[in-house]
Amino acid sequence: MNERLKSGTPSAAVPDDSIENLLEYYRDFGIEEIYLNASASEPQTPLPAETSLNADDLEKLRIVDIGNCVLCKLHKGRKTIVFGEGNPNAELMLVGEAPGADEDDQGRPFVGRAGQLLMKMINAIQYERKDVFIANVLKCRPPGNRAPEPDEVKSCSPFLWKQISIIKPKLILALGTFAAQTLIDSKASISSLRGRVYDMPFGRVLATFHPSFLLRSPQKKPEAWEDLKLAKKILTEPAD
Ligand code: URA
Repeated sequence: MNERLKSGTPSAAVPDDSIENLLEYYRDFGIEEIYLNASASEPQTPLPAETSLNADDLEKLRIVDIGNCVLCKLHKGRKTIVFGEGNPNAELMLVGEAPGADEDDQGRPFVGRAGQLLMKMINAIQYERKDVFIANVLKCRPPGNRAPEPDEVKSCSPFLWKQISIIKPKLILALGTFAAQTLIDSKASISSLRGRVYDMPFGRVLATFHPSFLLRSPQKKPEAWEDLKLAKKILTEPAD
């Protein structure tokens, strides 16, 4: 059950220093209401066996199927393949466009400025980085961060479909135009795709603005917050 708080309202259930930190980044993100997970202190149940099977399947996909992939021209300029990372049994999966320079250096998704904002976004709905699985449509950095090209998407997207089929998240949050258009199979703009849930054959997709876009256009953060609240609602709905 969620306890609803207005920003600035102290709660006896959460230590003062952590609520201050929480409220600071919520305010920074333009959020005026937060939801506290009342079950945060409840004992954790052991992870289901499926978790380790998913981890094994993802590892096989990473090492055997992708390996040192040369399926498209992006392999020539990359430093690392950014496979994605996180909870192999995540209920929430985040999908971006492609690695940038920081991600290419570190081999990890969303570790730059956009990644920092993305973490604030998911923290605002009570998820931490370790809870979710983060991936991109393309696993290698396009030169100069240019837009992905159709042949690259054709070669690389099967790896994303496979990741989704292994993890089977309850919700996939598509970040930005490119991920949204790929996942929803649409040419529409992100402004018209966002804010609604799409029941795709492989799972449920909700699109929102890319955190890099939100860094450039902070006036769009309230709409992103509406999307995040919808994500939280879907994620807390009881299973059928
Ligand atoms: N932008 C993306 O779309 N993905 C990343 O991993 C980083 C920035």
